Amino acid sequence: MGEENWMKKVVFFTDLNKIKEAYEFFNIDSFKNEKFPLKIHMGEVKNKYFPKPKIIKPFIDELLNIESKPFFYDTTVAYPGLRHYKKGYQKVAKIHGYHKFGLDIVIDDKGKIIKINNYDFEVGETLVKFDNIFAYSHVKGHIAVGFGGAIKNFGMGGVTKETKIFMHNASKPEIQKDKCTYCGVCAEVCPFNAITVKNNNWEISNRKCFGCGVCVDNCSSGGLLNQTENLQYLLACSALACVKDKNVLYVNDVNRISRGCDCDPCSGPIICPDIGFLVSDDPVAIDKASFDLVQDIKPDIFSKENNVDPIKQINYGEDIGLGTTNFQLIEL
Ligand code: SF4
Ligand code: SF4
Repeated sequence: MGEENWMKKVVFFTDLNKIKEAYEFFNIDSFKNEKFPLKIHMGEVKNKYFPKPKIIKPFIDELLNIESKPFFYDTTVAYPGLRHYKKGYQKVAKIHGYHKFGLDIVIDDKGKIIKINNYDFEVGETLVKFDNIFAYSHVKGHIAVGFGGAIKNFGMGGVTKETKIFMHNASKPEIQKDKCTYCGVCAEVCPFNAITVKNNNWEISNRKCFGCGVCVDNCSSGGLLNQTENLQYLLACSALACVKDKNVLYVNDVNRISRGCDCDPCSGPIICPDIGFLVSDDPVAIDKASFDLVQDIKPDIFSKENNVDPIKQINYGEDIGLGTTNFQLIEL
């Protein structure tokens, strides 16, 4: 068998009539007659760019055509708002029109601990129960990790709010006074104005800091370390906790590519023209392919917009065995 045949496949298309053809490159028959979670972010209130029902309908229709039984699935979020609670998230899903499909909508608030590389991740209890999972991920920028795709859909979206909080707290900065030059870069890049650097003094407001780790990434003198671990590393580990040993089919929607994520009510502006859709059975391959397609049109746009290099989550994902960047892009 030639080397090419060992590579993971990522299928790319812009024509929505090609969905069936794209699914058929993968093990779609294993979803036939099966019930399974369709992992998707159903959008924050007032967000404009999340995957709306009319966008995902053709993808759902092709699943229903093979008599599979998907249900929408997500987890409650750590920050205050309707989606912090199961009932509140159900309400948001209804406002956003997800109930019109007639499929169940399951929101988890509890999970089961799965250990990856010595860290505990509490994976949504429903996700743990199913061997088959379908993931629909909207590709966009992200304030903390620069890029959100399949890895982020599971790494943050597949775990309980306790694990989400753990990951953010782990990424908070710790000052290394002997290395800090008081240049002020960390204060400039902090999206929440949590750091003040003045008169050779470095201060942080713990109330304002939400643990994105962007300050640490931008300190070139070693003046800051993450309190426990890099957020993008934890994201990759957490995604692995969610999908390890599962049969997952991933769709990446590389359109409406906004600066911020679907959790943000003001996630604009759009930073790259619409590109199309990708399908794969590998989260690292599909995210790298999505990233590369954007990179071809708007080089470094994700890192420029959010002051953080998003390729780390993809590289960490490959390092820990979540997937591979060695893929073949098939255009339909
Ligand atoms: S970026 Fe680093 S060196 Fe500069 S003030 Fe912040 S911690 Fe100190
Ligand atoms: S972790 Fe993020 S929010 Fe906290 S101080 Fe650093 S840049 Fe600001």
